[in-house]
Amino acid sequence: MHNPLLQNFETKFNTSPFSIIKNKHFKPAFEKGIASAKAEIDSITSNKETLSFENTVEKLEFTGMQLKRITSIFFNLNSAETDDEIQKIAQDVSPMLSEFANDIRLNEQLFERVQSIYNRKEELNLSVEQKTLLSNQYKMFVRNGANLNPDDKTKLREIDKNLAKLSLQFGENILAETNAFELLLTDKNQLSGLPEGLIEAAKLLAKDREKEGWLFTLDHPSYIPFMTYAENRSLREKLSNAFGARGFQNNKNDNQNKILEIVKLKYKRANLLGYQTHAHFVLEERMAENPTKVKSFLNDLLIKAKPAASMEFKKVEKLAIQDGIDNFQKWDGAYYSEKLKKELFDLDEEQLKPYFKLDYVIEGVFTIANKLYSLNFKEVFDIDTYHKDVKTYTVSGENGEFIAVFYADFFPRKGKRNGAWMTSYKDQWKKDDENSRPHISIVCNFTKPTQTKPSLLTFNEVTTLFHEFGHALHGMLANTTYPSLSGTNVFWDFVELPSQIFENWCFEKEALNLFAKHYETNETIPMELVQKIKDSSNFLEGIATLRQLSFGMLDMAWHGGNPTNINHVKEFENKAFGDTQLYPDVIDNCMSTAFSHIFQGGYSSGYYSYKWAEVLDADAFEAFKENGIFDKETANKFKENILSQGGTDKPMALYKKFRGKEPNADALLKRAGLLFSSHD
Ligand SMILES: [Zn+2]
Repeated sequence: MHNPLLQNFETKFNTSPFSIIKNKHFKPAFEKGIASAKAEIDSITSNKETLSFENTVEKLEFTGMQLKRITSIFFNLNSAETDDEIQKIAQDVSPMLSEFANDIRLNEQLFERVQSIYNRKEELNLSVEQKTLLSNQYKMFVRNGANLNPDDKTKLREIDKNLAKLSLQFGENILAETNAFELLLTDKNQLSGLPEGLIEAAKLLAKDREKEGWLFTLDHPSYIPFMTYAENRSLREKLSNAFGARGFQNNKNDNQNKILEIVKLKYKRANLLGYQTHAHFVLEERMAENPTKVKSFLNDLLIKAKPAASMEFKKVEKLAIQDGIDNFQKWDGAYYSEKLKKELFDLDEEQLKPYFKLDYVIEGVFTIANKLYSLNFKEVFDIDTYHKDVKTYTVSGENGEFIAVFYADFFPRKGKRNGAWMTSYKDQWKKDDENSRPHISIVCNFTKPTQTKPSLLTFNEVTTLFHEFGHALHGMLANTTYPSLSGTNVFWDFVELPSQIFENWCFEKEALNLFAKHYETNETIPMELVQKIKDSSNFLEGIATLRQLSFGMLDMAWHGGNPTNINHVKEFENKAFGDTQLYPDVIDNCMSTAFSHIFQGGYSSGYYSYKWAEVLDADAFEAFKENGIFDKETANKFKENILSQGGTDKPMALYKKFRGKEPNADALLKRAGLLFSSHD
């Protein structure tokens, strides 16, 4: 069978030939791609020539290039333009791919070769980037147990199997607890305060379950607006208590013992591999480096944000007291926060939207990229796409040199998953004197144009577009030798710096003037609206910060110490929260037993990174504020040291080259309006 995925793409810039790729091509392409990659690896391990960096480490880096292309095309389509067939193929090929990845990780001959080069790395005169590549490869083996004796290897596999099972059960328990609860209301008066849309959805849900009335659940789309708008306090209390008790009810779905088993196993695993704790193991591959640094980062922020948070809390509480509530509780928080927000800012999304026509915003984004990095975007119509809505651009530099292909896929449709993301169809790399440029894509779900109106974005959508475009710049400006170190292939707590910093331009008058023009009158957005956007984005930021810190501290407490003697989940949790809690404790509630981020998903020892990334982007943007938000020199420093460097060096080293110092939290606290003394 002629399979376009297995041919050289004879297309402009070697882009993916979407229109001739059919679903039936994928599975055979994966099979063939894996087989060729395996053969390439065999040729490394059977090479009789003298062992060298080039014939082992570098060769391994460039194996399976075809498979990587096939994989990125396939999984990008599975997110942006999927169907039942593609989903079925994904189920078939995912185990094939993880088996192949395991074959590499457990390949002892390959490890021996990498190890012997690693052991004499000092003699080899390697560049910083080469050293990073070598160290990454070596760590990939070692962190999977390559250095262990056969007995310990068996133990490690056993622990991994148990951990996989436990985290699955943890998630299933939360799901069962979430589904077990429903709040059925039959009296219309109980709905007061709730938005029309929520009431409608609740009615439909009740009907679905063959019930009369309105049904509310613990799922976020039902739970969050109910807690924000329901006037009936005892119903809020009921829902809040049910939400907080998930996994903590001494029934068959209880997660307390699961947590104790999980943290103890993770600790054992870390010890086996030679690490002090699980957090030490995880943070070795993070900018934050170790638990001590993370803990002092969180503590420092807590001390600085607490006064503002307490003051905000008092303001919200005061509103509740005025309403006759004498014991302000956590189920009152969202409701009175919303009331206060309405009182303070009467900022309506609909009022802003006319100033954010998508076409103008995207042009604005391109103009900003031009002012900062001298990039030129040109829409083209001769590059193949997977859907007619996808726009294609060629990106060139100051002297007309080709930089990247850029795809933009803006509107929702069946077959596209929710949210917004940046991805690549082809990474950047250098080989044999060629600098092979990347193909970068952003995928969003923005408000569609109608017959009478163009696409007008909410401000939230505007910041989302800037965010994803920031990631895209990281991909497009990549200029490294090795694909695994290129673009967004950086440590996890560093990857949001380019995206989040770019959001800052949305709040600057000078930048808004470039694109925030009324789609009918062409009037530039009034300054007072800009100020309102800024103020409302900081609304109750102190309380929100303390909440994030509490989760980060809880995560670090579970994973950054020796858990052997922990017996009581709730007691341990209350201690770990420390000084972060503003509301009175609810005895029957527990956060940990439903903390799926860290016990089910991949965020263990990583929750701090949300705040970490904010500190970084605020500190980095401060450099632009000091020198002018379009200052070329600052932009160039950011490009040369961060955007183009990917993961070639340690993030802190790259950051210091850009900023001249380590980041600190002051810029974030200032931006969030949290830096003030105790006076209102
Ligand atoms: Zn992001």
